[in-house]
Amino acid sequence: MVDIVLLGCGGTMPLKDRWLTSAFIRCQKTGILIDCGEGTQIAAAQQHISRSSIDVILLTHFHADHVSGLPGLLLTMGNEGRTEPVDIYGPEGISSVIPALCILVTLPFEVRLHELHEDAGLQTVCRIDSLCIEAFPVVHRIPCFGFRLTLSRCGKFNPERARELNIPVYLWGELQKNETATGPDGTVYRAADVLGAPRRGISVLYSTDTRPNGQLEQAMQGCDLAIIEGMFGDDEKRERAAETMHMTFPEAAFMAARAKPARVWLTHFSPSLPDPETYLPDVQQIYPAIELGFSGKSLNLRYPED
Ligand SMILES: [Zn+2]
Ligand SMILES: [Zn+2]
Repeated sequence: MVDIVLLGCGGTMPLKDRWLTSAFIRCQKTGILIDCGEGTQIAAAQQHISRSSIDVILLTHFHADHVSGLPGLLLTMGNEGRTEPVDIYGPEGISSVIPALCILVTLPFEVRLHELHEDAGLQTVCRIDSLCIEAFPVVHRIPCFGFRLTLSRCGKFNPERARELNIPVYLWGELQKNETATGPDGTVYRAADVLGAPRRGISVLYSTDTRPNGQLEQAMQGCDLAIIEGMFGDDEKRERAAETMHMTFPEAAFMAARAKPARVWLTHFSPSLPDPETYLPDVQQIYPAIELGFSGKSLNLRYPED
């Protein structure tokens, strides 16, 4: 099961009713925050998210609207009593940017920094149980990454086969979790012998601050939810979008129409876009599964039926 909350949907600066773009994702027991602009910790508190439950922070890039909220967030996490380490992943330069940002903050937990590299293409960031987090470079004014989180699901348990193999019933639970089990006489039972083929899992993609690009389009394929940027409403702003390395709603929609993720949330709206709803009907003509993001928009994704 994966829970997603979009904490904000603004680009450049927070507005009084629009926090900066950021998402919180709970996947099994792991809390993951993507981007942390000014005000993100307030947006999280408004959604009743315990800030100290954030285990992993993924940073798309080092423009201030994506990172300037970090010192305050980390300070609050310490004040809320967190002592376990926090892992932060971001582009090259993370080992100088984050300590500089957080120089005033003393923390009761370890912050572990991990650098992503553009030339590595689509890369595995980390694996936590059956969750795999991947990053891929996108096309912005400075190095920038999109992220895809995939929760895999093992095959269906076959009880007849387990009985045939004389596996004690009390070991079935471990095998169902795709783990190896050892019987009282030392016999080792392998999950692969009693599980069917792996089943479809759940995948969520998050990518802002980019021009349309093939890497993003490919990464969106098969996703249950793609949170992508639509900085400008219509194609009149296409030149401005190209200049600042962002996307218009139609550009995002055409890319989504080719990649066909099950749902798309547009986010990272320009402060010059007071009413994104105006442009929604047009882009839904291009790809009907497009919705607009807003602070607090949430979704609970479960495994599809067998
Ligand atoms: Zn931005
Ligand atoms: Zn940017």
